[in-house]
Parts: sequence; structure tokens; C-alpha cells
Amino acid sequence: MLQVYPVLCRAGYMDNYAYIIMDEDSRTTAVIDPSEAAPVIAKCAELNLKPQFILNTHHHFDHVDGNLELKEKYGAQIVCNTADIHRIKDADTGIAPGEIFDLGNSAAEIIDVSAHTQGHILYYFKKDKILFTGDTLFNLCIGGIFEGTPEQMFTALSKIKALPDDVLFYPGHEYTMGGAMFAFQYNHGNDDIKNYLAKARTRLTEGLPVAPVTLGEEKRCNPYLEAASLADFQRLAG
Ligand code: ZN
Ligand code: FE
Repeated sequence: MLQVYPVLCRAGYMDNYAYIIMDEDSRTTAVIDPSEAAPVIAKCAELNLKPQFILNTHHHFDHVDGNLELKEKYGAQIVCNTADIHRIKDADTGIAPGEIFDLGNSAAEIIDVSAHTQGHILYYFKKDKILFTGDTLFNLCIGGIFEGTPEQMFTALSKIKALPDDVLFYPGHEYTMGGAMFAFQYNHGNDDIKNYLAKARTRLTEGLPVAPVTLGEEKRCNPYLEAASLADFQRLAG
């Protein structure tokens, strides 16, 4: 079983999430996308965990800036897409899309979703039905297309849509309310979106991340996942 502990980083201005993840059988621990080190170190101390790995979804500063400090503190290895190893400073190990990353007895499939950046990857813990989506999929919205094309983003989202509805996803930022109004209009205020937003508001009011949401709910409420064709997608993203 994989345990997931979200850590809000750059709170109030970028609202990144780093995730401390731990394989319960072996207590092998990793940190996904440490935007900054201090809040991750504080949470690790509270949980009494010592990460052996740092996993990056892509090279942007707000996902890797905590890498080095955590590497030095814990002796953790920095793992990223082989294709990004030249531009993620101090990276130790490359992993290629299609390969499996083993965290103790938990295993993540590496899925290429080049679009937000070239070489952006997802970590999909298939057995645990847990997906880390970085800056590709957020709650009710998606990441910007900085190094790719709308075609590539549509392809990337199609790969996510092909995953089972009961998979829980964990995004790289808390951007739910940013996408909420557009998603509400797009869905004509139907019950699915109303329920989604009611739950999101409760979570945020309690100081909790909106994540995780199931991919099934997201497919029903996120306009960018609802787009059935590239043409539909381009009308939204254009
Ligand atoms: Zn990014
Ligand atoms: Fe980001």
C-alpha cells in the first residue's frame, strides 16, 4: 500500500503541492516535486520519514527547487525523465516513459505527457490506483502549454482519460478555484459540477487540499477532459 502526504509549498502565491509518498511494506519513501525544501523537511520530521528518492515530473523551478537541499539532507537520489536529465540540476537517475519505477513494493508506471513541457511525465501507481499529474492535469483545469502543441496536450489528456475511473489523482498545484467558474459555466451548473465544487469548498475551508479526486469525477467535470475531439479541445484551449 502506498501512503500519500500532500505538502503545500509556496503557499499563497504559487500553491504548489509536493507529495511525500511511502510504501508501507518497506517504508521506502520518496518526495514528488519538492518546490521548496523547508515544508517538506518539516513534514518528514513529523512523520518520522527519510526520503530515499526525489521524483520530478518536469523541469520547472517550482517543481525542482527543493531537490538539492533534500538530496543533501537525506542522501536521496533525484530521479527524472532521462530526456530531462541534462536540465534538472544534480539529477542522479533517468527513467524513461514506459519503464517502471519501484518504490519498495509499490511500482509506478512512467507515462510521457509532453505538452506543458517536453519530457513531462506522470507517475502512475497502478496497483494502488494513484496518479501524480504534475502540471498536466489540475482540478477542473490543465497546465499551460509551454513547450508543446495543443495536439500534444490533447494526446496527453487522452492517456489520462484512458485510465480507470477509480484512480485518484494528485496535481502539482492547488488551482481548483481558478478553474471553477469556467467549469461551472461549461457544465451548465449541473449536479456533477455542483457536487464537485461543494466538496472542494469544504476541503479548502478546512485547510485541506481538494485532491485527491477520482478520475471518474474529473472526467465528468473538467472541460478539458470532456472535450471529445482535438477540434473541441482546440476551441477550449485556443
Ligand atoms: Zn510547470
Ligand atoms: Fe508548476
